[in-house]
Amino acid sequence: MSAPAHAERAHALLGASGASRWIACPPSARLTEKVTEKRSEYADEGTAAHELSEVKLQQLLIPNNSARRKELETALAEAMVSTYYGPEMENAVNDYVDIVAERFLAAKVRSQDAVIMFEQRLDFSEWVPEGYGTGDVIIISDGVMDVIDLKYGKGVPVSAFDNPQMRLYALGAWQEYDYLYGIEEIHMTIVQPRLDSVSTDIVQVEDLLEWAETVVKPAAALAFAGEGEFKAGEHCRWCKVKGNCRARADENMKALEYEFRDPALMTPEEIGSILFVAEQLQTWAKDVQEYAFGQAKSGNKIPLWKLVEGRSNRTITDKEAARAVLEKAKIDQMKYLKPQDMFGISDLEKNIGKKELAKLLDGLIIKPPGKPVLVPETDRRPELNSVDQDFAGEDFDING
Ligand code: SF4
Repeated sequence: MSAPAHAERAHALLGASGASRWIACPPSARLTEKVTEKRSEYADEGTAAHELSEVKLQQLLIPNNSARRKELETALAEAMVSTYYGPEMENAVNDYVDIVAERFLAAKVRSQDAVIMFEQRLDFSEWVPEGYGTGDVIIISDGVMDVIDLKYGKGVPVSAFDNPQMRLYALGAWQEYDYLYGIEEIHMTIVQPRLDSVSTDIVQVEDLLEWAETVVKPAAALAFAGEGEFKAGEHCRWCKVKGNCRARADENMKALEYEFRDPALMTPEEIGSILFVAEQLQTWAKDVQEYAFGQAKSGNKIPLWKLVEGRSNRTITDKEAARAVLEKAKIDQMKYLKPQDMFGISDLEKNIGKKELAKLLDGLIIKPPGKPVLVPETDRRPELNSVDQDFAGEDFDING
C-alpha cells in the first residue's frame, strides 16, 4: 500500500486535520503538543475503512499486472479480517468507491490523460511550517483537480465548504502537481457515506492562494511560535485540552455573567439568547467532566471529588445454562423468552445493505413526521406554524 500506511500517519504540529482549530486559536498548537490522547476505537475503525477503500480503488481504477493483482487480493483479504469489517463497512466503502469512480470517469471525459492518485503525502510547508497531510484521492485532468476525502465517522457531519483541512490538502496538491498539469480550478469533496453525505466546494486557484497568504500563513506563523491569542469557539470541540483550557472556561464563565434586570420574568428575546448559552455550557460541562474523570482514573485526585463504584444491574452469567434450568423446571417459555422481533432500520441496513433493503422493502418503509423541536432560526428546515398545528401532549425537544 502507498506510504504512509493509514495507521502510521504521523501528525504534524500544524496538520491539516487540526487547521480549523489552530487558525482560529493559534497558541492551541503548542499548548496541546505534548498532550497524548488514547487512540479511539473510532479512529481505528476509520483506518480500517480507509485501508479497505484504497485496495478497492486500486483494484477498480488502476490497470494492474498479475503480480500487483495478487498483492491487492491479499491486501483485500487482510482488510476483510479486521475486527471492524462487516456489512456496514463493506456498503459504506462501496458507496465511496462508486463516487470516486464517477469523478474519475468525469475527469476522463474531460481528458483521456486524466490521472488518479491515492494516499498522497501533501506538503503545504510553503505556507505552514512543517505542514503536511495525506490526501485520500487526487484526480487531475484538463486544468481541474479533484481532492477527495473519505470521512468514515458518522458522529459529526463534516462539510467540504470552506473547510480548512480540504483547502490545505488542495494547496499541497497544487504545489506538487501544478507545474506538470497547469491546475486552475480545484474541486474539494468530502464523502461521509454513513451519513449519506457528499459535499463539494469549488475554488479557483487564485482564491485559494489568496486565502493561503492572508489567512493561513499569518496564523501558522503565530501557531508555530506558540504566540497569538487564545480564542474559544466551535473549534474547541477538536482540541485536546477542551476539558481544562482556561481561555475556554473564561469564555463560558463570561456567558454566565448574564445580567438579569427587571421585570421579574425574562423576555422572549432573553430566553432566545439564553438557549444558545445553555447549549454551549452543556457541551463545555461534559468536556470538563470527561477530563476530570480521566484524571481521577489515572490517579490524579480532583479536590472535592472522588471515584466510587457506580450502580450496577444484576446479570445472568450464562444465558444458555439458565435457559436449560428453566426448561427443565417446565416454566412456560412465554415467561422467560422474549418474542422474536425485527431489527430497526439502521441495523437492517447494516446487515443487508442500504440499496438491497430499499429494494426488498420497497413500500414497506415510511418516514412519519418528526416530533416538533426547537432549533436556532439558522436551521435549514422550514418552520412549523404553531398556530395551525396541534402540539397538545408533545414532549419538548431542543436541537433534535
Ligand atoms: S480549548 Fe479552545 S480556546 Fe482552549 S486552546 Fe483549545 S482551541 Fe484554544
